[in-house]
Formats: sequence, structure tokens, C-alpha cells
Amino acid sequence: MIEVRGINNGIVLDHIQAGNGLKIFNRLMNRIANDVPVVLVMNVDSNILGKKDIIKIEDTFDVNLNVLGLIDDNVTVNFIVDGKLKDKKKVAVPEKIKGFIECKNPRCISHFDNYVDPEFTLYDRNNLEYVCSFCDEITKYE
Ligand SMILES: [Zn+2]
Repeated sequence: MIEVRGINNGIVLDHIQAGNGLKIFNRLMNRIANDVPVVLVMNVDSNILGKKDIIKIEDTFDVNLNVLGLIDDNVTVNFIVDGKLKDKKKVAVPEKIKGFIECKNPRCISHFDNYVDPEFTLYDRNNLEYVCSFCDEITKYE
């Protein structure tokens, strides 16, 4: 087991399915300031998952649980304040999602009008398929 120092104020994303850590990391990077310490740990042993990834971020920001749930619904989000676990949240596949996925219908209004963010409603949980609020087309998250 690799020893990684704990964080004082920030967020620890735990129980990430091994391999998803980098995806989540890339998604979050535009939300994290350049000078913030971030640790991405990959392929460590997990009782639940066999192998898991962990991300530690020494920063408090509004982490988008919907987006996390879409990428990996195993993730647990730990909020650390003054070196102590303050809150813990389990993510889930979101019922609704806004502005994160793009409608696959090329004629959908959401591609032409910058003022509208399509809202997608969960259609098939197992296949991560969502229905567009504008055109009713089904888009699969991949
Ligand atoms: Zn659409």
C-alpha cells in the first residue's frame, strides 16, 4: 500500500472503479485551481472492488455529484474539514442531467442555440441512456 499524506481541507473521492480515476480526474481538472495539491492514486487494493482508484484534492469546491455518478456510480465523496471527515456522500446515476452530455440528434435545437442547455432525463439506467428535453431523442452516455 502506498502511503499518501492525508488532506486538511478538501475532498477525497474513494471507491472509484480502477481505471475510472483518470476519467474523473480529467473531468474535474477544469474546476480545480492550478496551485491546488491533487493526488491521483490508481490500482490500490479494495475490499469491495478488488482494485480501486482514489483522488484527493486539497481544495473545497462544489463537486458535481451528477457528473461523478454518470462516470462511476461506485464513488464515495468524503468532505474533509480541519483534517476530519465532515460529511460523506455516495453518488448515484443521476435522474436528470443538464449541460454535460450532448444530444446525438444533429438537428436538435440544443446544437444551434447557445442559450439553451438541454436537460436529459434518465431513460435506461443500465445502459446510461437519456432522453433529450428538446427533441426526445435518446442519447447514450459513453
Ligand atoms: Zn435533443
